[in-house]
Formats: sequence, structure tokens, C-alpha cells
Amino acid sequence: MEVILSERGKELILYKNYKFSCKNLTKNGRKWRCTKKTCNAKLYVDEVKTTILKEETEHNHLPPKNVQRQIISNQVNRKAMNDLIEKPLKLINKQIFTEKSTNDLKIEDISNIRQNLYRARRKSIPKLPKNLRETQEIIMSTTTLANRNEEFY
Ligand SMILES: [Zn+2]
Repeated sequence: MEVILSERGKELILYKNYKFSCKNLTKNGRKWRCTKKTCNAKLYVDEVKTTILKEETEHNHLPPKNVQRQIISNQVNRKAMNDLIEKPLKLINKQIFTEKSTNDLKIEDISNIRQNLYRARRKSIPKLPKNLRETQEIIMSTTTLANRNEEFY
């Protein structure tokens, strides 16, 4: 079991190559449902998301295809946040080479991972200042901002 973030930033549980999204709390634990709407598979997980308390995982479909991409995208984004200097493609390449089963990744997957990374990094930079005083305050507090911005293009 692994907790990942969806491309929209929502938490998902990845279990046996299927994705589950968070639902209500029940007496058996927190309910997580398969992300495919027509599927009835569910997991009951403790609140700290480490233990599966109960599983009803009879899916009516094959595992989604983009799971591998999503995992890599997550790992790359996490690294990108800790390392704002490294170029996106370098981060992605590094991650792909450390993953074992990435044979099914295609060019469009790489570009998708890259898009996600840009989006995640953009969210992490401070908002634009409204006036000169704010600008000066931001410059005083973040001297590395200029260097960071260069890396976005
Ligand atoms: Zn399912």
C-alpha cells in the first residue's frame, strides 16, 4: 500500500496497482473506494494510512494504465520541491533510471510528468508582489528568488 497524490493534488491509496480515493469514516476504519466509479472495490484503512483493516477488492476491470506514471510523477515532484535548482528533465530521467518497471512509459508520459512538475513548482513560489514595498520585503526575505525563477524556463 502506498499513498500518492493525484494529478489534482488529492490523496489516493495505491494498492495492488489499483487506485482508491478517500471516503467516509466507518466503524471498520476509513473507507477508500476504487477510483473507477462503476467498481465496488473498497479498502478500510486506519487513520494514519499504514494498515489495511479490511479489504473488499474484487474489481470489475483491469488496473488503470497510468499508475506507473503517477508514481514516478509523485516521486519526481517530491524531489523537485527539495531541489528547486535541478532541471526538470534531469530529475525525471534520474527517477526513471532508479525505477525498475518503467518499460511501459511513453514519450507522452514523460511530458505529462514534466507538466505536473512545472505545476507543482509554480504553486510553491510566492505570489507576485502588489507594490514596491512588498517587492522590497520579498527581496529582503528571499534572496534566492531570482535564481529560482531562472529555472522555470
Ligand atoms: Zn476497481
